[in-house]
Amino acid sequence: MAILCRLLRIRPATSYTIRTFCSPSSPPSSPEIGAIYPSLASKKTSDGRNVQWVFLGCPGVGKGTYASRLSKLLGVPHIATGDLVRDELNTKGPLASQLSEIVNQGKLVSDHFIINLLSKRVEAGEAKGESGFILDGFPRTIRQAEILEGVTNIDLVINLKLREEALLAKCLGRRTCSQCGGNYNIACIDIKADNENPAMFMPPLLPPPHCASKLITRSDDTEQVVKERLRIYNEKSRPVEEFYRKQGKLLEFDLPGGISESWTKLLQLLNLDDHEDKRSAAA
Ligand code: ADP
Repeated sequence: MAILCRLLRIRPATSYTIRTFCSPSSPPSSPEIGAIYPSLASKKTSDGRNVQWVFLGCPGVGKGTYASRLSKLLGVPHIATGDLVRDELNTKGPLASQLSEIVNQGKLVSDHFIINLLSKRVEAGEAKGESGFILDGFPRTIRQAEILEGVTNIDLVINLKLREEALLAKCLGRRTCSQCGGNYNIACIDIKADNENPAMFMPPLLPPPHCASKLITRSDDTEQVVKERLRIYNEKSRPVEEFYRKQGKLLEFDLPGGISESWTKLLQLLNLDDHEDKRSAAA
């Protein structure tokens, strides 16, 4: 993390120092979880530091939900660049109106801008003694992935996948409590099986009564903007999957259904399913 801070602090205007890591010539098809950290009790990688993981996946797939649960379980910060962008928007600073125009069109903000935001967040966390991370929403372009690669080593990249028809409904169903910040989803996804896909049921995640009257919707969660974000994901972020796949770091996870079923399966896939901390992470 210290390296990440140091190099990101350089913030060159037009270029970044990129150190190329060697990738294996014939990468494994998926990472070996046992090699990433020996046991959950230590919550460390085999070389003794906290995990450095990335979540990839389309808008609405649930990166925030599972990244936040895993960060509690593993004791590392969950850093969501979308949240950093929204915090910046809420400051109503000089860049806010330009930024809101970009975000509300479903476009990506510049690599330079997002790296500055991430850098500040990492520095603030490090000052509080944080180490390791689960990144959510970064990297989103090949350029961002290369910059990250040049400054630190990512252990594992979890690629969450969900059928496109469910993604739009999930984005449109997202709600946040304006008071406590709790995240909910009012969409009930019930897709029948067809020749290629099994049936899928994702129940809504409804707010408790005290939040119900305070729910707000993200300004970029409209049908038109979500469709544009999905298009941009396919154009700019899909190649990032391949970037990590070639390195043997990409762990594919097809969400099987709602949160409880998917969380259990994800923990199994990560060999984290026999630890009692998983209950508190889900709380
Ligand atoms: P999503 O639900 O689409 O995954 P996020 O909450 O992660 O959205 O991000 C919201 C918006 O913030 C994005 O549409 C984009 O404008 C901006 N943003 C977040 N992360 C990045 C990034 N890594 N690069 C560029 N723009 C970003």
